[in-house]
Order: sequence, then structure tokens, then C-alpha cells
Amino acid sequence: MINERMFGLGSQPNPIRVQYAYGLQRKAEIGEENVFDMSIGNPSIPAPAAVRERIEQLLRDEAPEVLHGYTMAAGLASARQAVADNLRERFGIQATAANVYLTAGATAALYITAAAITHPGDEIIVNAPYFTEYKVMTESAGCTCVEVPMRQTDFQLDIDALREAINPKTAAIVINSPNNPVGCIYTQENIEALAAMMTEKEEELGHPIYLISDEPYREITYGKEVPFAANFYRDTIVCYSWAKSLSLPGERIGYIYVSDNIPNASEVAAAVGGAGRALGFICAPVLFQRVIETCISEPTNVDAYASNRELLTGMLDELGYTYIQPDGAFYLWVKALEDDSQAFCDKAKAHDLLLVQSDCFGVSGWARASYCVSAECIKNSRKAWAALKADYDA
Ligand code: PLP
Repeated sequence: MINERMFGLGSQPNPIRVQYAYGLQRKAEIGEENVFDMSIGNPSIPAPAAVRERIEQLLRDEAPEVLHGYTMAAGLASARQAVADNLRERFGIQATAANVYLTAGATAALYITAAAITHPGDEIIVNAPYFTEYKVMTESAGCTCVEVPMRQTDFQLDIDALREAINPKTAAIVINSPNNPVGCIYTQENIEALAAMMTEKEEELGHPIYLISDEPYREITYGKEVPFAANFYRDTIVCYSWAKSLSLPGERIGYIYVSDNIPNASEVAAAVGGAGRALGFICAPVLFQRVIETCISEPTNVDAYASNRELLTGMLDELGYTYIQPDGAFYLWVKALEDDSQAFCDKAKAHDLLLVQSDCFGVSGWARASYCVSAECIKNSRKAWAALKADYDA
């Protein structure tokens, strides 16, 4: 008999991908330029030239049976060392290859981490709105996903509400900054307050509360600093991906960083290895491990996202929409023009403007527009945004 939960997940796919699939189909019907697909977070900026050069060089110079062979479960020592060096140089932390486990993107990193540090029946706290898959990840580990709204005034972490939500079953809090879907960046003050509160709660409860810092947008910022959470809270586990920073989402490459500051760090690292094994996430794609060895310090180009952000927000200002000014990532969190976010997105869809309803991010009444698209797409979408507004003004 098939598994009911898996059947449910498979037959009701993530709404982001539902919109994306519809967009592909609709583009084939009416032409690419007539569909304003702002559903998925597929970077529109190409990967740096150095990535292609590295792949070409590897294909030319390396013996295929070695190049494409298995690595150790955690990845090549050289690639893990490159990550450790990068983290040390940028954030002044202690790191060696032993602290790094390479994964097939941030998704694998998150699933491994959740499995490594929880027991069935535990709770994982997420800050709403939150990346859709956190709930699936939490429930896959047999845990309960506890949603705590971010502060509605400034979309920072609501420390008092988080404190209230923590109880003896709490195993972890997940944060994501720069944030998908809001685009906010948690300030150093906010992270320090979180760290102080969590430290206090750990002492009170007598067990660790891990901070899972999901950081695929770390480099996608428009001027504001992104505090490195592991520098502020001892029991932090970082989940990272090069999907956005190097525009490699389909290549599935990222990592988990377990700091030695965690009191039983070697046991946590072993549990990460065990969870990777148990979940089948061993040996991240090897060609891209080799790419990371040499391309890890390639600068992230955000110019096109920065100008798209200006274009889109300027347009929505003129049309009278309300949104949260994003400081990072490449999403705009737009207030829906009615309480029912799905109905709002369906109306947008009728104008071939593809947004993502907010319920799948854990809140109602908003919509997410991804602006990692071409500038043309944004400019041409004006008529759709205007028609959508007119639907409600009528
Ligand atoms: N976490 C967040 C906040 C994301 O937005 C995404 C992807 O969009 C992921 C994790 C998954 O990243 P990856 O594609 O590397 O698995």
C-alpha cells in the first residue's frame, strides 16, 4: 500500500512548482513574452564564467573514471577545506574540513540537519512567513512545525513570541536571512537578542536548542550587512547552497557547517553523517564539488536583481500596491488586494501574471513575486499588474 502522506505530497505539489509548470505550458501556448512568470526563484543572472571554464578544464584534463567517481559521503576533503577556508576568511570563525558536510543543495542540508538533531515528537519553530518546505522537512523528521509570526511592523524575529513558543519539546529554531519570501535581513541586534533568549532557554530546559540558519541568499543583498548567526549563537548549524549565489540551482550543491563551538560538536557532526546516510544524501554531485574548490570566492553579481527591484517597486508604487521593501534575496512580498491570497493569485493568473499565494508560506493575505526574471518581463508585466488592480477598483 502506498504511503498516504507521500501520496498527499506528490498529488498536491508545492504551489510554487504548480505555478511554474503552468507558466511553461502557457508560454508554449501564447508566447514567452506574454507570460509574466514571477513564481519560482530560478536566478536570471548566469553563473560566473569561471564555473564554465572550470567544468571545461575538468572534462579536458581529468580521467573520467576519477572525475565522476564517488567521493566520501561528506564530500572531497579539498572541497570541504575550500568551504572552511572561505568561512574562516569571511567570518573569522574556526573551521576545518571536518566541520563541513557537502550536500545536494540547501534542501538536503536542511533535511539532514533536522533528522540529525531531533527525535520524533520534538518541535521545530519556524518564523512565518517561511520557506514552504520547512514544514515538509519538519514533519519528515516526525516533528511538529510550530509557526511563530515575524514582527509585522518590521519583519524582524519576534523574540518574545519565540520565547513563548519554546517548551521542553523544542529542538530547534529555523531562521532564513536574507529571507524568502519577505526579503528582510535580520539585524545584528535582532540576532543578538535571539541568541541571548535561546541561551537562557537552553539553560532553563537543560538541553540544546539548535539554531538552523538557512542561508542560500547570504550574498544576495542590496547594501545591508547579513550577520553570520554562528558568530552570535553557540549552537548554530548553517545550511547553505550555491543555488542563488552562483546561479546553480539545478546542480544541487550546498553544505552543512557544524561549528566546533557546539559542546558535543563531533557527535553532532557524526549525527549529520548518519542522517545523510539514513536519508540517502551521500556524496554531493561530484562535478560541482570540484567547481566549488576553485569558484567558491567568485563574487555574486546582484546588479540585475537590484535594478529589477527598483523597476518592480517603482511600478507597484505608481499603481498603488503595498509591499515590503526587500533588503535581500529576490522576492517581493506584496499585500494581496483581498484576504484570500489564492483568489488574488488566480485573478493575477487570468492576466498571465504568475505569483505565489502566501498560505504556503504560513500566512494569509499576501503574495510573492520573484523578480529574478528579465527586466523586459518586469516592464511588460505592468499591464497585468494594472489590470489586476483595476479588477479590484471596479
Ligand atoms: N531555503 C530557502 C529559503 C530557499 O528559498 C530555497 C530555494 O529556493 C532552499 C532552501 C532550497 O535550496 P536548494 O535549491 O539549494 O535546495
